[in-house]
Parts: sequence; C-alpha cells; structure tokens
Amino acid sequence: MKLIIVVPCYNEEMVIIETNNQLQIVVNKLIDENKVTAESSILYIDDGSNDNTWNLINKLRNDFHNIKGLKLSKNVGHQNALLAGLLTAKIDNDIVVSIDADLQDDVNVIFKMIEEYYKGNEIVYGARNSRNFDSFFKKHTAILFYKLMCFLGAETIYNHADYRLMSKKSLDELSNFNERNLFLRGMIPLLGFSSTTVYYDRQSRFAGVSKYPLIKMMNFALNGITSMSVKPLRLIFLLGIIIFFISIGMFVYILLSYFTGNAIAGWSSLILSVWFLGSLILISVGVLGEYIGKIYNETKDRPRYIIEKYLD
Ligand code: UDP
Ligand code: MG
Repeated sequence: MKLIIVVPCYNEEMVIIETNNQLQIVVNKLIDENKVTAESSILYIDDGSNDNTWNLINKLRNDFHNIKGLKLSKNVGHQNALLAGLLTAKIDNDIVVSIDADLQDDVNVIFKMIEEYYKGNEIVYGARNSRNFDSFFKKHTAILFYKLMCFLGAETIYNHADYRLMSKKSLDELSNFNERNLFLRGMIPLLGFSSTTVYYDRQSRFAGVSKYPLIKMMNFALNGITSMSVKPLRLIFLLGIIIFFISIGMFVYILLSYFTGNAIAGWSSLILSVWFLGSLILISVGVLGEYIGKIYNETKDRPRYIIEKYLD
C-alpha cells in the first residue's frame, strides 16, 4: 500500500524543516517494516504563504526523493488547502494521512493509524486526549463548540481536528461532496464506512504562531454550525410557538387586569397585539426557514447515499 502524508502549510518557515525530519523518520520506519511501499511520500501544500515556505518546500524536494509540493495561487484557508492536498494525493496513493505542519499532533500516532487501516478501517480519526498545552480560553471554547455542534445535530468526533487517515476509497466518495463552505471534520463522518479513533496527547506548537487567531476561530466555528446544520432555522419556529403560548398566558393576565380595572385605556389591546403579532411573525419566519433550509441542503448537492459493496 502506498502512503502519502499531506501537510497544509501557511507561513510555516519556522517549523517545516523539523516537521519534515520527523515525518521522514515515520515514513522510513513504515517502509522498513513493509507496512507501506517504498514509493510512499510527503506532500506539502503552500497555502499562499508570504514567507519562505515555498522555497523551503523546493529545497526539501532537492534534498529528499519523496517530497511533493503543491502551491496554491493565494491563501484559501486551512480547509480548502487541505482538500486541495487530499484530492491531489488520492489520485495515485492508497492511504492518505493529513497532519498540521506545526508538530502539535504526535507523528508517532501514524503507526497506530496504519495498524487500524489494516484492521479494515477506511477512516481513522486522531483525537487528542488532553488539551494541557492549549490556553484555558482555547480549551474551554473548543469544548463548548463540540457540545454545541452535538446539540445542533451535526456529528463530529470529539476533540478531533484534521489529523486523520483516509483510504483512497473514502476520498473518492468525499470528492462527490460539492459544497463550497468546507467543514471537513463534520463532512467526513457523513461518509460512513468503518472507522475508528486513536488518541494522543497534543503538544504546543513547535515554533511559529497559531494561524487561527480568535476571529478566524469564531468564523470557523460559525461556518461549522451553518455548514452542517439547519437546526438554528428550526429554532426560530420553536421560539415562535413558545411565544405563542406565552401570549395565551398574557391574554388571561391582560383580561384580568382589564376587568379588575388595573389597566389604563389602550394598554390591553396594545400589549395583546404585541405578543400575538410577535409570535405570528416568528412562526412565519420559521416556516420560511424550513424552506430555506431545504433549498440550502439541495444546493449543497451532497450524495444521497454511498455504496460500500455491490454483490452481483
Ligand atoms: N493553515 C493553512 N492555511 C491557513 C491557516 C492555517 O494551510 O490559512 C495550516 C497551518 O499551516 C497548519 C494548519 O493549517 O499546518 C493548522 O493551523 P494552526 O496550527 O495555526 O492552527 P491551530 O493549531 O492553532 O488551531
Ligand atoms: Mg496548530
């Protein structure tokens, strides 16, 4: 089986050489153990870096026989860069492992991933055990995000980022997902197939700074929710129904106030219309939301099903 390791890089001049050294050790060990073929390789994707990253990728290509490089015309963001790498890599490889460039993910987990692949798993997710090296803020916002995703009905693997093994077969199916707003860690579980999770301790960045500052992280989270779930639209409808029932309670209260003489002239009719009209508007928006949600899902043009085996 031919392995390729896919590494998206955005301004990673400070880490790429060390990352490559560590990945070379892994690839060579796998080749020595006859787990993967000698043609196995590493693909670096330069996501429109404006530092020395692309020159370093070229240098690595001269120094090692198994390096491939992909240069994107401009910065398109981690998810798009990763997809570009995955879809390029799947063409002539059997196993594709994606990993960040910054050595936060333990490269030795790749051995476990390959083992799980040979046990019959088409997808192996790497998930972190601990977030000891993440800041308090990052750790807790991330946990909140996974819980929210779960509540909204989007299946994601807890504490899994984009460190994973995928077979060529699963990547062929992923290429049929035509959406533009990518949230790969939510899309890949939709593929089905047998999969498993391996755990590791996440380290702090080897060097350089995070390319996901707070604003980018919040955008990513928002994109994740709106890409995977139309439930927020349904919540509008639910809110309308709740307010409608509150209106009925208010109706009783307003009537009582009116007949006991506690209401000034005009108040009863005004407040009653505010509550009823409010709920009516929310319910109507919710109905529109249901249709918009359907249109949204249709435009994604996702496959309706994936055939795993056909016995004829
Ligand atoms: N990355 C990328 N394009 C971007 C931002 C990030 O290809 O626009 C890459 C980056 O080089 C790294 C990976 O995506 O390999 C994850 O980024 P980072 O480690 O900065 O994110 P964090 O671990 O802080 O969430
Ligand atoms: Mg990182």
